[in-house]
Amino acid sequence: MGASVSEQAFENVIKLIDDVGERIGISEICRLKLSKCERELIVHFPVKMDDGRVKIFTGFRVMHNATRGPGKGGIRYHPDVTLDETRALAALMTLKTAVANIPFGGAKGAVVCKPEALSLNELERLTRRYAAEISILIGPESDIPAPDIGTNPQIMAWIMDTYSMGRGYCVPAVVTGKPVAIGGGKGRFGATGRGCTIIALLAARHLGMSINGATIAVQGFGNVGLAVADFLATEGCYIIAVSDVYGGVYNPRGLDINGLSRHYKETGSVVSFRDAESITNAQLLSLKCDILLPAAIENQIVEENAASVKAKIIIEGANGPTTPEAHEILCGNGVFIVPDILANIGGVVVSYLEWVQGLQSFFWAEEQVNDYLQQITTNAFSEVLEISLNEKVDMRRAAYMIALRRLADAIDVRGVYP
Ligand code: NAD
Repeated sequence: MGASVSEQAFENVIKLIDDVGERIGISEICRLKLSKCERELIVHFPVKMDDGRVKIFTGFRVMHNATRGPGKGGIRYHPDVTLDETRALAALMTLKTAVANIPFGGAKGAVVCKPEALSLNELERLTRRYAAEISILIGPESDIPAPDIGTNPQIMAWIMDTYSMGRGYCVPAVVTGKPVAIGGGKGRFGATGRGCTIIALLAARHLGMSINGATIAVQGFGNVGLAVADFLATEGCYIIAVSDVYGGVYNPRGLDINGLSRHYKETGSVVSFRDAESITNAQLLSLKCDILLPAAIENQIVEENAASVKAKIIIEGANGPTTPEAHEILCGNGVFIVPDILANIGGVVVSYLEWVQGLQSFFWAEEQVNDYLQQITTNAFSEVLEISLNEKVDMRRAAYMIALRRLADAIDVRGVYP
């Protein structure tokens, strides 16, 4: 029996690297290097719970590739996260930083836990112990974590503090996505959603679709989903459906995103929001709409439901929301898919700017950060679109082509040590 979708996440990324790499003729050294993660740390560590018991948690920190610069990638707290998934996410970061053309490699971390089931004190103790365990790898010159699913600026602050205590001095550039009070970049929270919005506007313009009045469905209402829904509503779009892990809400005339955001903060879910019908996540994905924005977790658009997707454009806010089989079905049906390694570069681009500011201890205004984000995202989209049109390949393959060319150039010129 074949591996399940979630067990073959890394294999899927590597398979596409191999296919596209062969097409553009990358060297054997490059192919071999990218087929494995450079470093994989598994940690099992104790945490004192509030009731006095001690529980053992498992975490990972994986560096896929650091040829173009230090490892960069978020930390995920989720009960189902696996080493294989962490490897896949690290490899996507290697490709994403190359598409954005910023001087980072790719990494990712995770702790198998259910953060909402932990008290704030337990979450702090878990985070500090995990940070201590992975502090042999992380550092401003080596590997720089950031938030991902289940983590937030406060968790980044605890990691930064724990790492700094070990060094004996303040090291802000060890993480990004931290609070502004300790060197967090202005504009980082919401940066991924802002980047997805820039991409959605560019994609709509390319297809001759008016963004004003466009209908949007967003899966996931966290850091990415909430921000992108808010920005797109400001652009004049109708956000007709939004969902989270508990279910979704639908209003064909458009949801009031400010009201929904307040409801989410008060109740912890979008479910049962006023003036909206209840829908499931499965129904959201197959709604008639102009743009579908998966911004939750991976493997949501799969072989079984891909043909039911009616959106004209998919902007992959989440990492890996579409399986390879589903991708082919969607492309066959004429859906314009902007892949994760391009669509959600906003977070890592603004993280890069935060890291640069931290290293220099010189901080910028939010407008300057947003201007750079606009510039880098627009360039990346134009470059990928040009390759896609010239080489007659879909946007995912085009993005892999650009990333692999940049990676191959760097890997080949560095050579094999010793
Ligand atoms: P988050 O934890 O802030 O929010 C996740 C949202 O998805 C929540 O609303 C949650 O309820 C929902 N969700 C979780 N499981 C779900 C399920 N099975 N079905 C439907 N909804 C579900 O996470 P985030 O930071 O917004 O990240 C979302 C995605 O975007 C992830 O794939 C992440 O890797 C990717 N991403 C995040 C960033 C970033 O800056 N945070 C950057 C790039 C990519």
